[in-house]
Amino acid sequence: MSIVDLTSMAEPEGEAQKKVNEIIKGLKEDIPNDCYQCGKCTSGCEAFILTELEPHKVMALSKSGFIDELLNSSEIWTCVTCLKCKERCPQDLAPVDVIFAVKNIAVVSGKQIDSGYSNMLQAVLGTGFIQSPKEVVDRENNAVTREGLGLTPMKGPEEIAKLQQVLMKAAMETLR
Ligand code: SF4
Ligand code: SF4
Repeated sequence: MSIVDLTSMAEPEGEAQKKVNEIIKGLKEDIPNDCYQCGKCTSGCEAFILTELEPHKVMALSKSGFIDELLNSSEIWTCVTCLKCKERCPQDLAPVDVIFAVKNIAVVSGKQIDSGYSNMLQAVLGTGFIQSPKEVVDRENNAVTREGLGLTPMKGPEEIAKLQQVLMKAAMETLR
């Protein structure tokens, strides 16, 4: 079963439901309570520049218990895990951890996950890369490839099966 298959699981039951409740309880009672909405996290957020993900709003919504709104938001999937929000927060908070927790709840709950995110997971599982190496444009606006620059082709992990096992084990442990 791939991670993508995992994300299409039906409604949570038993242990999975318990895990969802624990995470939600943690979100409400602990993580975001010290956030005073200064916005420093959002002002440095790489995803905000591209997709308008606003980590300070994630904190406000989770603090107020609007977990469903977060779960149904496409923006949570655009976090690029740059960790700037964690580095910049004057309160030592980590919106990125809240976003990860919400994404885990979404997966366990069988919510539809963003196609870009599931494509990325599939690519990592299949090749070890987030995406295959692409052409880029240089300062003179010429498209260049690795080969065109005389670079060797990118090599994926030699033991892809082992990588898949490790990733699947980590995913199952997170969702357990
Ligand atoms: S930087 Fe910290 S305190 Fe400020 S809004 Fe973001 S999470 Fe809240
Ligand atoms: S880790 Fe995610 S939420 Fe935090 S600054 Fe980076 S992209 Fe934004």
